[in-house]
Order: sequence, then structure tokens, then C-alpha cells
Amino acid sequence: MALETPNHTQTVAGWAAYDSSGKIAPYIFKRRENGVNDVTIQVMYCGVCHTDLHHVKDDWGITMYPVVPGHEITGVITKVGSDVKNFKLGDRVGVGCLAASCLECEFCKNSQENYCDQIQFTYNGIFWDGTITYGGYSDMLVADHRYVVHVPDNLPMDAAAPLLCAGITVFSPMKDCQLLESPGKKVGIVGLGGLGHVAVKMAKAFGHQVTVISTSPSKENEAKQRLGADYFLVSTDAKQMQRGKRSLDVILDTVSAKHSLGPILELLKVNGTLVVVGAPDRPIELPSFPLIFGKRAVKGSMTGGMKETQEMMDVCGKHNITCDVELIKPDKINEALDRLARNDVRYRFVIDIAGTSKL
Ligand code: NAP
Ligand code: ZN
Repeated sequence: MALETPNHTQTVAGWAAYDSSGKIAPYIFKRRENGVNDVTIQVMYCGVCHTDLHHVKDDWGITMYPVVPGHEITGVITKVGSDVKNFKLGDRVGVGCLAASCLECEFCKNSQENYCDQIQFTYNGIFWDGTITYGGYSDMLVADHRYVVHVPDNLPMDAAAPLLCAGITVFSPMKDCQLLESPGKKVGIVGLGGLGHVAVKMAKAFGHQVTVISTSPSKENEAKQRLGADYFLVSTDAKQMQRGKRSLDVILDTVSAKHSLGPILELLKVNGTLVVVGAPDRPIELPSFPLIFGKRAVKGSMTGGMKETQEMMDVCGKHNITCDVELIKPDKINEALDRLARNDVRYRFVIDIAGTSKL
């Protein structure tokens, strides 16, 4: 049970999973009052990330039930703390994975709060007052303004919501691999789901040649025609994978389930980099031969810092990058999670929390 301090006075309606069956049901809980550094947000939309599915099912063995998932949140500011200067009432804003960090370590000081070792997440985290954090599957959120970003005016709030996690999670490693400033690279995206489809759009917008590596042949046409991918490799087809050998500079792996990195590494040129962002519950296989024979590197990346998240939102505004979403009402969350588990979504479910869309 969540600890509740006396200033947790605001009653919020949300949706939670109560145990590892992962079934979601309505949940009424309390949030803190709006502090001097906080903004209160009326939640409009919340994306359904595969991380939500990992949490409700306790795939990673860390879930504190009841868990209110949701870290792809867009909404409108309804209260502003006295020390908050960069947000005002009515602002269109977004909240992603981060709720708090120490603000003092080298990573916090260097706009990489996502790597602070005291990081607390938007849900299933423990806030400074000892309470468990609850996410965006709820009608209202109180957030420290340092973990809130502006949503550019030209981006619709529903299709922008998944940028707050899926978007930043693929943007950050692309930036890290210099893909923003040096076009013309050959980029591979493994797994065409929520993260993968935004990655394709971003990599194309940044001027790269994009290869999707997928287990789903049925996604090929859409990947090329709608998302703009140049090539599509079916990862279970050894011949296709053979043809793609040594062709890519950078690969992002967004796969949510256990798999081997060996065949994926073979697609990299000598000195190429594979960035793993997918987080399967079991270790992925990393054979040494494709690593050493191609002097290749494998690294990870976790979401992004707040400055970078605002930059990503602005870049998406500039290039008009939004997510392909399937809007659902809250009473369809269980169905959506079941379909997500079956890899049956194009490409992100987004919950219409405020009921403002015509569904
Ligand atoms: P998603 O929408 O379910 O997409 C995952 C994709 O992986 C699927 O669409 C599928 O693509 C592929 N896939 C699924 N099962 C597979 C299997 N057994 N073998 C090979 N490929 C398989 O999930 P998502 O929301 O994009 O999240 C992906 C992963 O990233 C999750 O593990 C999530 O927890 C993690 N994540 C990490 C961060 C971070 O900060 N690093 C942030 C957000 C999410 P194809 O049909 O094309 O094969
Ligand atoms: Zn996520």
C-alpha cells in the first residue's frame, strides 16, 4: 500500500492493476497538494507503453501494487506553484518517465537526470515524501515542473503523447550517435512497435537511409509506404539477413522480448554501434564472435534528460513528427494491453483520459 502523508489531500480517479494478472480496474487514490515547485495537470491523453505491460504483469519483479501505469502523458496546466516561472495556467504540457532526481549529482547538473542514481519514475517510484508514484492512467497529475515539457502548438495532444516515452527513448541514442547532425547514415531499427515506428520517422526526418528489422512480414508495406522506411528485413528469414550483412552504421533495438543480438550485430558495418533500448524480462543473447569480428559496440540507453526531452518535442514540432495512434476509452485498457502483448497494435494505443475525442 502507498504511504500517505497529510498533505496528500487531492482525490484522483485512475486505473490500476492490483496484482500480476495485470488486469486493470478503476482505482481512487490521493495525490499531494500542489507544492511551490509543482504544476497540476489535467490529464488529456496517456499512451500505453510496453513498459506499462511489463509493470502490470510484474515481468521485472519490481512492481508495487496497486500500480497506476502511464508515462506518456499530455494535458493542460490547472495550477502553478509559486516558484514555477516557465509554465502558466492553460499551457499544453507533457510528462514522461521521470518524477524526481537528486538535482545535485554530476548527471543532474549535466542535464542527464535520467542517469541519476536516485532517479524516481512517474509510476512505481517512491517520491521524496515516501509515497509511491502513480502515473498517467488517471485524470489529474501533480508534477515537479522540472520534469514537465511544453508540447509545441502544431502537435495534436493525442498523437504527441507517446513522444514523452517512445519518442525520447529513441531520440536520445540517435543524438548520442550523432544522427541529428550528420545525415546520410544507414540506420537499422529492430522491432516495429511503439518505439520502433517513431524511430523510423525520426531517422527519416534526420536524413538517413532506414532499414526496419522485424519479425512481422505483414508490417513491410506500412513501414515503407506510411512510415518511409527504405528497406525491410524479416529477421526470421536467414537469406534476407545474410543479404543485409555489414550494411548499417547504427542500429536501435527496441524489442520487448528475449532474442539473440548475434544476427543483428552481423548487420552492422565494422565499428558499427548497436544501442539496446528494449527491456525484455530475461537476458538477451550476446555472442562474442559478431562483436569481435566486426569491432562492434553494444550499448544501452534509458529514456532521456529533461532538456533533451524538450529539444525532442521541439524537433518533432519542427518536422511535424507525431505517432500513429489508436485511441481508446479507459474501459478498453485491458483489451489494449492484451493486444499489445500479442503484437497487435499500429503503433501505439493512447487512452483518451479526459473523454475529449469522438470515439
Ligand atoms: P511494442 O510496441 O510492443 O514493440 C516491440 C516490438 O518488438 C514489437 O512490435 C515487435 O516488432 C518486436 N517483438 C515483439 N516480440 C518479439 C520477439 N519475441 N522477438 C523479436 N521481436 C519481437 O513495445 P514498445 O512500447 O515499443 O517497447 C519496446 C521495449 O522497450 C519494451 O521492452 C519496453 O519496456 C522498452 N522500453 C525501454 C525504454 C528505455 O528507456 N530504454 C523506454 C521505453 C520502453 P516486430 O513485429 O516488428 O518484430
Ligand atoms: Zn515507456
